[in-house]
Amino acid sequence: MEKNDKAIISGMTPVGYVVSEWRSTEKISVGGTPAVIEMVDEYLPALHRITEHSHFWILSWFHQADRSILRTRPTRINGDLPEYGVFGLRTPSRPNPIGLTLVQLEKLEGSQLHVSGLDAIDGTPILDIKPYFESDIVFSPRTAYIYSKDPDMRRANFRKQALAHHGEACSSLELGVKMALLADEYFGQIQSPDVKLTVRGDACLADVLQALTRSRLANPARFHYVERSSVVEVEWQKGDRGITMQQCSEGGLLVTGQNAAYQFFEKVVY
Ligand SMILES: [Zn+2]
Repeated sequence: MEKNDKAIISGMTPVGYVVSEWRSTEKISVGGTPAVIEMVDEYLPALHRITEHSHFWILSWFHQADRSILRTRPTRINGDLPEYGVFGLRTPSRPNPIGLTLVQLEKLEGSQLHVSGLDAIDGTPILDIKPYFESDIVFSPRTAYIYSKDPDMRRANFRKQALAHHGEACSSLELGVKMALLADEYFGQIQSPDVKLTVRGDACLADVLQALTRSRLANPARFHYVERSSVVEVEWQKGDRGITMQQCSEGGLLVTGQNAAYQFFEKVVY
């Protein structure tokens, strides 16, 4: 593990360092990876009762970042997106390259915090660790539509959000992620206030799709759930366009709706 003391701002002391298989920022997964935070001995008393929490904000120092960049495009996600000021992005390139990452604490072993979801390379200095509280949640924030060109990245991102909300990787979670990806391709940003949906016949699916669309039962009402139904089905609506997805045999989805020219289509998606 290589420590990078030179990069630390004066007056600030790393409380730990990242131990990770990731050595280069090019290859690290955008959604983060499992990693260990090796605490500096002096700060071990500050871990007292830390395991009463499951999630933490990790503030790190991205010591390899280019600090002169003020505007950039999120090229790792999609090179066709417009330029943003770095304060509108999570890019490590920024004047003070402080990383802010929400991680889950898997276990504490001596001076090692085992976490998942950390997007920092091996040797990254950790500046601070703070617990995540329920009051940190904003359920329906307005966010820029940073659409990834890479379908695997889109899937991983939706899966992470669905898991954070639903808490179990059940088959309905996988179904919900699949439906949300299809709807996102069809309508664009499914978190948009004008995307409305009705879920029938599966409470887990309803929960997962509420998370992924940030839709609410009221104010504004974008979400409707019908418990009793002979089929598991989701109806999506945006303006005058609509699609219906129905679970059919052998893990397929029967999708019906109108195409861009408003012609009716029906297809089975696996
Ligand atoms: Zn479930």
